[in-house]
Amino acid sequence: MIYQLKPLGYAYDSLEPYIDKETMEIHHSKHHQGYVNKLNLALEKNLNLQEKPISEILKDLNSIPENIRSSVMNNGGGVYNHDFFWSILKKKIAPKGEIIEELNKKFGSFEEFKNQFTNSATTLFGSGWTWLVLENNELKIIQTKNQDSPISKNQIPLIAIDVWEHAYYLKYQNKRPEYIENFFNIINWEKVNHLFLESKK
Ligand code: MN
Repeated sequence: MIYQLKPLGYAYDSLEPYIDKETMEIHHSKHHQGYVNKLNLALEKNLNLQEKPISEILKDLNSIPENIRSSVMNNGGGVYNHDFFWSILKKKIAPKGEIIEELNKKFGSFEEFKNQFTNSATTLFGSGWTWLVLENNELKIIQTKNQDSPISKNQIPLIAIDVWEHAYYLKYQNKRPEYIENFFNIINWEKVNHLFLESKK
């Protein structure tokens, strides 16, 4: 199978003003596409792996031959992480549902969850991601480096923020905290709640 860039499912300007159209266009059509292309290149000669969805490959890193493992991790992770990221973004969705009750329970309050998530995303050194995941049915905020993916560690992603500079630099330059603050305006809580309920089953 040849991996393809998935369409965003919404217009590049849908998340304005929090994420600008130009950033979305470059991020999706150049960066994300680049990961797809390099993944295809890395798996060119491996027909067994090519038959699997990328999520399955990432859940079993040991199944990847050593000579292409880091390339598949980096580029396959890039494909999977961005697919996930785009899927949980939408404007004007109020935080509500079972997930919010669970966040209140786990962190004491929604504000405290927001503080800890923001702190994690702000302090991540270099390129990577901050996530809200479920691990053994427990909510956790975690960081991953580069394009490492939580699914490789048996964690189920619920929220992701890309803090690579390419995700925000055009609009926010060095002001990563401002980008993170605005990210809270575009979390699709309906989707996150759905993922939460699905993964508890
Ligand atoms: Mn990115």
